[in-house]
Order: sequence, then structure tokens, then C-alpha cells
Amino acid sequence: METESTLLTGLNNKQLEAVTLPQQSALILAGAGSGKTRVLTARIAWLIQTGQVSPTGLLAVTFTNKAAKEMLTRITASLPINTRGMWVGTFHGLCNRLLRAHHREAGLPASFQILDISDQLSVIKRLMKLMNVDDEKFPPKQVQNFINGCKDEGLRAHAVEAYDPHSTKMREIFDEYDKQCQRDGVADFAELLLRCYELLERDTNIRGHYQSRFKYILVDEFQDTNRLQYLWLKLLAGEDNCMFAVGDDDQSIYGFRGARVGNMRDFEKDFKVQNVVKLEENYRSHSNILDAANAIISHNNNRLGKNLWTSAGAGEPVRVYDAYNDTDEAQFIVDEIKMLHCEGTSLGEIALLYRSNAQSRILEQALFNANLPYRVYGGLRFFERAEIKHALAYMRLIANANDDTALLRVINFPTRGIGARSLEQLQEVARAENCSIWQAAINKVGNGKLGAKGIEGFVALIRQMVDNAYGISLRELTELAITMSGLVAHYENDKEGEDRIENLKELVTAAVSFTNRDFGNHNNVDGETEQDLLTQFLSHASLEAGEHQADVGREALQLMTVHASKGLEFKAVFISGLEEGLCPHEQSLFENAGLEEERRLMYVAVTRARQRLYLSHAQSRMLHGKVRYGIPSRFLDEIPEELLKRLNSKPVARSGSNRDYSELPAMMSKQQSSNQKSAMPWKIGQQVAHTKFGNGVIVSYEGNANDMRVQVNFGREGLKWLALEFAKLTPI
Ligand code: ATP
Ligand code: MG
Repeated sequence: METESTLLTGLNNKQLEAVTLPQQSALILAGAGSGKTRVLTARIAWLIQTGQVSPTGLLAVTFTNKAAKEMLTRITASLPINTRGMWVGTFHGLCNRLLRAHHREAGLPASFQILDISDQLSVIKRLMKLMNVDDEKFPPKQVQNFINGCKDEGLRAHAVEAYDPHSTKMREIFDEYDKQCQRDGVADFAELLLRCYELLERDTNIRGHYQSRFKYILVDEFQDTNRLQYLWLKLLAGEDNCMFAVGDDDQSIYGFRGARVGNMRDFEKDFKVQNVVKLEENYRSHSNILDAANAIISHNNNRLGKNLWTSAGAGEPVRVYDAYNDTDEAQFIVDEIKMLHCEGTSLGEIALLYRSNAQSRILEQALFNANLPYRVYGGLRFFERAEIKHALAYMRLIANANDDTALLRVINFPTRGIGARSLEQLQEVARAENCSIWQAAINKVGNGKLGAKGIEGFVALIRQMVDNAYGISLRELTELAITMSGLVAHYENDKEGEDRIENLKELVTAAVSFTNRDFGNHNNVDGETEQDLLTQFLSHASLEAGEHQADVGREALQLMTVHASKGLEFKAVFISGLEEGLCPHEQSLFENAGLEEERRLMYVAVTRARQRLYLSHAQSRMLHGKVRYGIPSRFLDEIPEELLKRLNSKPVARSGSNRDYSELPAMMSKQQSSNQKSAMPWKIGQQVAHTKFGNGVIVSYEGNANDMRVQVNFGREGLKWLALEFAKLTPI
């Protein structure tokens, strides 16, 4: 009983009620920071502790693998149990595990490989080329979204409706793509789920087995489940099992990927939910931060509605910084971080959030210059780097040489004189004979055709690798893959190859730590899923490890997109780039649903902060190689002024921010030559006088030559855009 009480200590009444609910389905609908994840974890521990279920008798779905690991760590901290056989993980991770156990019934090879997003795109491109599809009319990325979108809805090609030539073609590509994957023995992310769903639906024995095993199903971040994920859960739960779902409709931010808040309503109906528990006390943030978040989200119409309050006190005001450009913004952030750090905030407790990945570069540069350690989540992850993907491709071929994607990646890398033409021929043969490229290559070599020398060498190499790999450890196999393939030697000859060799060595380390891992979402743990370590490692590389990478080392600033920040919390948070067009993103500006989703994103971002929150925007920024001029995001206007503390940008340039200086004079000189009247040296930071508005400073410009406009900050008169030709500006 003692552990039971410590398990439950500190929970408020509503939380306690949720944790200890009787055996029935329940929905916990609550705002950010109200303890949903904590309640879910406590419920798992409580159910086990009180003997209502064994650790292997429940299934919990989390949003990231990181969250799953944290959950298991927390559970083991309160209970002396072995978590190895527990099914706690992401939808993809759990489906992968189930498919490994029943690959035969699911129609997949034992060592099926997982196609990540970029591999998937290259399969689609290759296929479209073979099918002679015009990639201007059918941009491959769009085709990819279409295929994944259909699968997320649970649809196969034959079930997709098509009424016109365009959609008919899309459907045809979809169908061919699925056939190709089947031939290759690979599955993309969406396929993992769909395949698993179809298996459970078709095979009553397997379904019965899991239904009788998982008496309790628990799902975090339920608002972001898509149609198929919901159907999958429903199938697993069957008639008798209980589902415990926690979520927040205001944090639904994956609508663009098919997530459906409507699943919450369906869930209440389908599972005859008697208990919708609402948690209203926020334990994360001070009230200034929380009020700002509440004020923003109150502008959305489509809400289920809930209140959120805190007893933590007002805390500090939300700081708003109006930067004159992105360099200035980044420099401001660096200065504040240094100050926070001096005052004792650890760097790992500070997060820098942004709407899109491309925004991180300028921040990274400023942090690098300031010598501040940082880690980017969700950027180019370790396992996505080219050299690592090459090495993994060799490993995939050792596991299954019929994997066309892996084969095409390395058949001529390092180069072995195989020309584009002979590769194309090989692909054509494979397609005509409905076999893998590997098979086609073997046949070609067997026929002793001319021009097959390079191919012959490749076939011999892979065969040799397979022979040598027999019976060795994963570590040795990884070493073999990077050396025997010639990759290390190749990069040794490359001037910039040092880093890449380091990374390849790191892959060996990754293999070792994978072999020695202590718990997690792996497949051979409860004896029902026999599968070799290599295949597990390769799945791990496709599914999970990116998150791992970001986790190493503690004392580093955390940089990530708002999407990636879901569920996390930090003592101090900086949200930068709050400009119309960036946040809300321009793609969403013209649709109401899109705008509401952007607002939810902003709500997620703001609610990550515990004590201090900085919001910043820049009057101009360089993005995707272009200078853009933004007005402050509407979301800033939605926060009551009394919660804010405005930190004004200094009208003169901050140190280190010199980019616009080099751009403007060049632009201005054109203007000067065409406009004889103004022979003065305009530049950003230039102090000017205006007859009506008084003295000001130029903060940015747009246009060129005769129609150049400058933006001037006139202090009390505010920011004004003025056409240089007509405005009577005098430099001072
Ligand atoms: P999000 O919507 O962002 O995922 P959440 O609802 O899942 O948030 P948690 O992450 O579970 O919220 O909790 C937020 C913070 O509040 C955590 O630091 C957690 O430890 C703390 N917390 C939750 N409940 C309590 C409580 N009863 N007493 C003290 N702290 C609590
Ligand atoms: Mg949570």
C-alpha cells in the first residue's frame, strides 16, 4: 500500500479521479500543462501496482519514442518491474513490432525494411520515370502526399475514387508504387499502420490474441490521431477492452497530415464514454504566460471549450522584442540567453522555437559565434546523413538483396563504372520480368553479357559481404559494411571526408549501444517475435534513432520547430519569427481552418514555457535566399497589452548584425544614379529627418531603383513605409 500512496501523492482530486477510474473507457480532455501525461503514466503504474493488469497486459501509445522512454523510466522509478515486455511506444513503433511478429500473415518478408520519407520519395520518382509520367503535371512530392494521405485514411489504390484523368493517373501510380514496395519487401511509415490494421481486421486469431491480451489501451496526445490510427485502436480494443485517451483539442496541430479532432467525438460515442474528465489546473506556467495562451486560443471558433488556471502567481511579463532584422533578433536572443545563463538557468532548460526548420540557420550561426552549445531536434538527423544512409544501404542489402532502394543507392557508390544507361536497362529488365533489380543483375552476370563488368563486381561484392556477415556480431557487421563496401576508403580520399568517416565510426558505436540497450520497444523481448538483430537495428535506424541523437549530452540549448516541441516544457522559451506569413504561415492565411491550426500551434508554443517567455519578430529577414519584410504576427495583437513587456529594438545596429549593411548600399547606389536629387549615402541604420514625422532611423527597404521604399522608425510616430522618391528625407 505504501508504494500505492506515493504513486498517487501530489495529484489533485480530478487527476486522482482520472488515475483511479474503474474499468471503463474514459476521455481526459484538458488544456496544456494540466498533467495529462502525468496522469496517463500514473494510471499505468497504478493499474499494475494494484494488480488490475500485468505489465504485458496493457498497450500505451505515446507521441514520440522519447516520451515512451520517459514514461518507462518514470514507471520503473515507482515500481520494481521489468519493462522489457511492455508495449509502450509510438503508433509506428508498435505496428512495426506487431508486423515483425506476424510478418508471414501480413505478407511481408521476415527482414522487411522501412522506407523513410526521403527513401519513399526516391522510389516514387524512379517509378514515375519508368512509367513515363510527367513530373511537372504530377510533382513527386504531391504524389507522395497523396499516397500517404490515402493510406492514413485506410485506403488502398483500388478503393480510391477517381473521376478524371488526373486522379486516375494518381491512383495508377499509387497502385504501382504499392506493387513495387511489395516486390522490394519494404514498407513506408503509413504502410506499417495500414498493413497492421488490415492484418488485425482479416486475421481473427491474431486479433483475438491481442484483444485478449491488451485489456487496457492508453493513448497520449489523442487529438492528433488520424483516421486510420483511430480505427486501429478501435480494432485492438474490440468490444470489451478499455481505452483511456488523453488529449487537448486546442493542441491539434497535425490536421495537415490527416489528424482528426473529430476522433474525440467518435471515441465518446463508439466507446460509450461515461467519463469525460476535465483537468483545469495548470501546473506548468505562471499566469502571465497562461493568460497570454488563453487569450490567443480564445480567437478560435472551433473549440470544445475548457478553462485553465494556475495558482502559481503572475510571474514575469511576457517579453516582446521588435527586431529590425533577423540578425538583430538572433543577437538579442543570444544576449538574453547569456544573461539567463549567468543568473543560473541551465542551458538545457532553454528552448528556441520556430515555425519552420529553415529559420534555425540564422539562430544556429549566432549561437555558434557566441560559443553557446545547442542541439537541433528534428533537423538533419544522424541517420539521415548521406554517408550513414549509404552504409545502412549495404547493411540492408546484406539482410535482403532484393531491396531495390538500397541497391540503387549504392550499386555505383563508391563508383565502380556502372553507367546510367546500363542501370536503366537493368531496371527495365527487372520491371519487365517482375523481379528485383538484384535478380536482374544476377541474370545479367550469369548471361556473361558484355558491359556487365561493374555490375559483376557489385554482385560479387554483395555475395562476399553476405558470406562474411554470417554468424558475426552486429558491431562486426557494421564495421564490415563500412570498410568492405569501400566507403571508408572513398571518404579517405575526399578532402572533406573526415567528418563523414567520423560519422561512419559513430554508426559502429550506435550498433554497439543498440546491442546493449536495456529496454524499449524492441521485438524479441517477450519471446513471441524472433527476429535478428540486424533487421531490428535497421528498423530502429528508420524509426527511432533520430530522436536519440538529439538527446545526448545535457547542457545544451534546445532548438526545434513548434511541432517538435509538443508535450515538452522548459523554464525559458524563445519564440522567434512572429511575422505574418511565417507564423501564421502564408500557406494557411487564406483558409479559416488553416489559420485556426496555426493559432493552435502558437498556443502549443506559448504553453511550453514555465517561467519566462520571449516573443520576437523582425522587420526584415533573409529566408530561402530572399529578403522579406514582415509585419508582426496577428497573434501578438491577440495578447492583452498588460501581460507584455515591450523591449524596443535599438535603432542603431547591434554589434555583429551587418548583413543588411552590405546589401543596402548596393541597392541604393542604383537608386542614387537614377535619382540625381539624392546623392546621399542611404543605409540601414541611417538617421533621417522628415518634415512631418520628425527624426527617425531607416530599418529596412524594399523595391529598387526608382520605386524603392524605405521603412523608417520614427519612435513615437511609429514605423512608416515611405517612397524614397517622394518622401522628403534628410540624413542627419
Ligand atoms: P501538454 O498538454 O503540454 O502535453 P500535459 O497536460 O501532458 O501537458 P504534463 O506534462 O503531464 O501536462 O504536466 C505539466 C507539468 O505539471 C509537469 O511538470 C508535471 O510534472 C506537473 N504536474 C502535473 N500535475 C501536477 C500536480 N498535481 N502537482 C504538481 N505538479 C504537477
Ligand atoms: Mg502531455
